[in-house]
Amino acid sequence: MPAEPLPATGRQVGIDLGVNVLVATSDGALLSNDRFGARAAGRLAAAQRDVAHKQRGSQHRRRAVERVAAAHRHARNGRANALHQLSRRLVDDHDLIVHEQLQVVNLVRRPRPRPDGTGGFEPNGAAAKTGLNRCIHDAGWGRLLAMISYKAESAGRSVIAVDPRNTSRTCAHCGHISVGNRHATVFKCLACGHGAHADTNAAINILRAGRAQQHTAAQGLN
Ligand SMILES: [Zn+2]
Repeated sequence: MPAEPLPATGRQVGIDLGVNVLVATSDGALLSNDRFGARAAGRLAAAQRDVAHKQRGSQHRRRAVERVAAAHRHARNGRANALHQLSRRLVDDHDLIVHEQLQVVNLVRRPRPRPDGTGGFEPNGAAAKTGLNRCIHDAGWGRLLAMISYKAESAGRSVIAVDPRNTSRTCAHCGHISVGNRHATVFKCLACGHGAHADTNAAINILRAGRAQQHTAAQGLN
């Protein structure tokens, strides 16, 4: 039994987890990435520079170090609050939440350098991946999903994770699958012309996949 059951809303939602847009919903909402992280990072960098300019062992340096620690805490709390609010809203407003199955661990792992046979290393996309890692950490997808999961359990809501394959390249209107359907944030179906924000289109596909999964599970019970 859920600890604090919420009344049914009759609403279901699919969510697409993004880098620029933290969460896009199947209703068309684009919930922005927490910019707080970027602001706090700027403040943190300034505090760190400040420490570097202070004399070792001095009272001024000790205070500057404290400011660095405070900036760290501030950034952490701000991110956590944003994720709590977002997960609360999703759980309060929907009976079913469908998200893509994440493999954050694999994405975040640093790519191993590939020896090129002459003692050097071939570029392996490490720099690009480092940028993506940063975004993943900033956005906190894994933490967001964990928050959704426990709030949903407590409220008696359903959460389904679906295979993310093709969710971003499938047309939510006609089902046509093509890499060419998507250009960055713009989805334009090559078959039927359906246009949408790419993340919204993906979120609709994610919701649909979740419903299909739920349907199959229900049939299995009969
Ligand atoms: Zn289409």
